[in-house]
Amino acid sequence: GCGICVKKCPFEAISILNLPTNLSTHVTHRYAANAFKLHRLPTPRPGQVLGLVGTNGIGKSTALKVLSGKLKPNLGRYDDPPEWTEIIKYFRGSDLQNFFTKVLEDDIKAVTKPQYVDQIPRSIKVPNMTVGKMFDRQSETDNRNQLEEDLELKHLQSREVSQLSGGELQRFAIAIAAVRKADVYMFDEPSSYLDIRQRLAAARVIRGLVQPKNYIIVVEHDLSTLDYLSDFICVFYGVPGVYGVVTLPYSVREGINIFLDGMIPTENMRFREESLTFRIAETVEDNAAPNIRTLTYPNMTKTLGSFKLHVKSGQFSDSEIIVLLGENGMGKTTLVQLLGGKLKPDNEADTVSLRVSMKPQTISPKFPGTVRMLLLKRIKAMFMHPQFNSDVIKPMNLDGIIDQDVQTLSGGELQRVAICLVLGVPADVLLIDEPSAYLDSEQRIHASKVIKKFVMSSKRTAFIVEHDFIMATYLADKVIVFEGSPGKESWAGEPEGLLTGMNKFLKSLDITFRRDPTNYRPRINKNHSVLDHEQKSAGNYFFVE
Ligand code: ADP
Ligand code: ADP
Ligand code: MG
Ligand code: MG
Repeated sequence: GCGICVKKCPFEAISILNLPTNLSTHVTHRYAANAFKLHRLPTPRPGQVLGLVGTNGIGKSTALKVLSGKLKPNLGRYDDPPEWTEIIKYFRGSDLQNFFTKVLEDDIKAVTKPQYVDQIPRSIKVPNMTVGKMFDRQSETDNRNQLEEDLELKHLQSREVSQLSGGELQRFAIAIAAVRKADVYMFDEPSSYLDIRQRLAAARVIRGLVQPKNYIIVVEHDLSTLDYLSDFICVFYGVPGVYGVVTLPYSVREGINIFLDGMIPTENMRFREESLTFRIAETVEDNAAPNIRTLTYPNMTKTLGSFKLHVKSGQFSDSEIIVLLGENGMGKTTLVQLLGGKLKPDNEADTVSLRVSMKPQTISPKFPGTVRMLLLKRIKAMFMHPQFNSDVIKPMNLDGIIDQDVQTLSGGELQRVAICLVLGVPADVLLIDEPSAYLDSEQRIHASKVIKKFVMSSKRTAFIVEHDFIMATYLADKVIVFEGSPGKESWAGEPEGLLTGMNKFLKSLDITFRRDPTNYRPRINKNHSVLDHEQKSAGNYFFVE
């Protein structure tokens, strides 16, 4: 065990972190003296999708800028940048030589789906620009119709871009990149704001762009999505904000396993202290332990405008995590608010009264002070507690931002603070709405681990809304499946076992999962593969042993 967990811990704590501290070779680009530097580059291959994974601030977007020709790599010589001929000579003998020769000869057109889709409306200069007009301007291929269908954009044609929600903007941005004719397509974090069905649709759209001679590169933090859409993977490691190193290309399975493991076997290099496995059996063991407390909530309905949610009554125990599974607009947040007493059901007699702590889906803090002041104000007792500090505050990496003003935090930083807050408030039931939003894949690993450990050791119950499939399956002891039609009417089932619940949910998405033999992580089967076919006909949408 790791010394913190009550049960056997899935994380092996490894104390030797042998990252090189002073890498000087293979510098591709350095922004300035003492500024961030990127070592090596990912090598795209024609006709394949290259997936990039790594923590925030490690150089993924920098690599995309270099590969798109927008940023001329200075090979570390920020004060004396080399000419293209020298750059190409530097890459001689590698696949990048050919690639950069094309970049130099202006033979390559690259389009990028930017990381921050929220900034798209501000970047559009034409007033009242609509989705449809933008398509009229940008379409260079004949796939517009299909894209609008696949990415659920048909009904938004006359909507102004400035009025799109996060998920709508993301789908719009992916489609606008995909209607262009290009040699290189880059998608920087395409799954943000999307639910699982939409993530799969986006992945299929991206895969649909593959041509024998074009290059496709995707940065993605949802590892299931990354797994599903990539042909091969480069991992980024290093020290965020200081330097990043790109690994050699690996097969998808190997690359993601290396990332999860935190260890590159071929370089004998450990870049993260802990590795993550997804042992489902462990949660079964946990369930076998006697639970002390059983709580219930009644049948409920809730009408919101033209939307109606029906909730089947349920019961739950301590030391249990229940994950809410459903598409956007199915009422997951509504159920969270009903359980938290923030919303009253149609029949007020059914109002739930539990001692809860809630992390809302959208975090917009008005607190005027620093992170430390906020924690002292809201969760002083826990914040001062050494165990909470080592179990939660430390792994959520608040040290670096503890004296920063809450108002100046980025989305991911706010999310990490919010997770500490929701765990720190005294409660029986934790309600955590979309904890992975804005977190990179490494922070998701830490957050999953922190939440799971905390719920088990403090004997609380957590209801968690989560679209990242790997996180959801790692966290869940039970699931609540939502069925119906988004935005209209839906039914939330009672908490049920992971296997039956996942089967139901995955059947509705028409996808099957297997699990990786090394770390048990769930992997989406390729559509129509032998395994996919076998599992579907046997009704085993979720893993079989
Ligand atoms: P990622 O996409 O992996 O999150 P980025 O490539 O965006 O990382 O950034 C890597 C590092 O480089 C960050 O610390 C960032 O602040 C820094 N950086 C990015 N652009 C510049 C720039 N123009 N000048 C100096 N530093 C930069
Ligand atoms: P989810 O969290 O599953 O995405 P929500 O619970 O946020 O779904 O919303 C379910 C549906 O209810 C959505 O169609 C949403 O637009 C609608 N809705 C939410 N709040 C209100 C409200 N106050 N008035 C009218 N409709 C609402
Ligand atoms: Mg980036
Ligand atoms: Mg929601």
